[in-house]
Amino acid sequence: MTGLHCRSLSELSAGLDAGEFSSVELTQALLDRVAAHGETLNAFITVTAEQALAAADAADKARAAGKGGALNGLPIVHKDIFCTRGVKTSCGSKMLDDFVSPYDATIVERLAAAGAVVLGKTNMDEFAMGSSNETSWYGAVRNPWDLERSPGGSSGGSAAAVAARLVPAATATDTGGSIRQPAALTNTIGIKPTYGRVSRYGMIAFASSLDQAGVITRTAEDAARLLGVMAGFDERDSTCLDVPVPDYTGELGESIEGLKIGVVRQHFDEGLDPGCGVRVSEAIAAFESLGASTVDVDMPNIDLSVPTYYVVAPAECSSNLSRFDGVRFGHRAENAEDLFDLYCRSRGEGFGDEVKRRIMTGTYVLSAGYYDAYYLKAQQVRHLIADDFKRAFEKVDVIAGPTSPTPAFKLGDKVDDPITMYLNDIYTIGANLGGFPGLSVPCGFVDGLPVGLHLVGHHFDESALLRCAHAYQQATDWHTQCPEDFA
Ligand code: GLN
Repeated sequence: MTGLHCRSLSELSAGLDAGEFSSVELTQALLDRVAAHGETLNAFITVTAEQALAAADAADKARAAGKGGALNGLPIVHKDIFCTRGVKTSCGSKMLDDFVSPYDATIVERLAAAGAVVLGKTNMDEFAMGSSNETSWYGAVRNPWDLERSPGGSSGGSAAAVAARLVPAATATDTGGSIRQPAALTNTIGIKPTYGRVSRYGMIAFASSLDQAGVITRTAEDAARLLGVMAGFDERDSTCLDVPVPDYTGELGESIEGLKIGVVRQHFDEGLDPGCGVRVSEAIAAFESLGASTVDVDMPNIDLSVPTYYVVAPAECSSNLSRFDGVRFGHRAENAEDLFDLYCRSRGEGFGDEVKRRIMTGTYVLSAGYYDAYYLKAQQVRHLIADDFKRAFEKVDVIAGPTSPTPAFKLGDKVDDPITMYLNDIYTIGANLGGFPGLSVPCGFVDGLPVGLHLVGHHFDESALLRCAHAYQQATDWHTQCPEDFA
């Protein structure tokens, strides 16, 4: 029974079916690892050991009775942005430090119904705003590949937990890159589905037109398995689309022979770390030897992604976060003199610096006199960027490039320089602006630090991305490399 922590969901599922171990034994083994490494990594905000063991026991009983869903008895963790009934849901903020959700997010409900066992809630940048996990009120998460470095963000806790083999799979969210960038920096797979593919009900909102839930795992196969359970129409989210969900797992095995991969030249300019550039180019070449062909694609407006995002996302966040006022939701300041003082002090005390910066920027770009110059203009440019992708997808099936401009950087290195921090998502943000699915797959190392290959697909074609990643993982073993102290 040794090495359970290194196995994928699929391997664990086979072991449970064969009676090699029970879900209770598996859950306990992983909870022990979480306890042993929890403090070092700071990947968890809440560990739900008792609930996990109870769920594992129920899963074992269901299995014995010949019942149980697609994920029966398999351990996962949730990013602390998803509402979980009866369990603290902090969103990485002091504002919600004592918030216990009265209901489950749709994805939490669906994964539980499939039999998944939840070990806890993972650390994240405050309200998912950040690229390093340093904006979390609970402190930064450490990268298992080098504890001095960031695992990326905002889903850093989910990525670090999966990379360190504390759990095989985690849920996460991506508004501008928060699933894919941490996946790249930790040698894991991260997929952000098409906007509207997965319900946002019960997922605390940052920028509603960009936010999307997805997963971080070690194999494409596991990502397909989890996504298959999470995806699909939800009448409680009006932006969730009623489009049939393909059999992601079934389609994994289809060949990528003849697939056309677009390469955007702008993605390989001076902003990219040369070592990362080499790894990514090698990965693209590997796809050619797997039968795919590459085509250059031009995306004239893609360089405008970051400035466009940093108008749209703050605008939406300033509106979404207005509900945290100490009255309707969130931390309430003590001994307020009047209502205005209560609002000011509750928000002043509850939010951290980055969240305040975004709220102020967002309020500014939406205000009378500036709305046309900033917000409206950004929405127009957003369309031009989406059109660049649509034109590209007339010629190619997927677009490939780097996920992140550099490998994992040192904690503290970028935190005082918001612009440099914002540039972390330069390659990922376009997919959010256009609502396209994106995936990062491990493609090698630079000086011992992982590098990710980024793949973007056409709307609702997550299958193409998963199929590419799966074919690549069959041909390479980067994803099986484990950080030394966590083997
Ligand atoms: N790093 C980006 C930001 O800070 C993206 C965050 C995200 O995807 N949630 O906004």
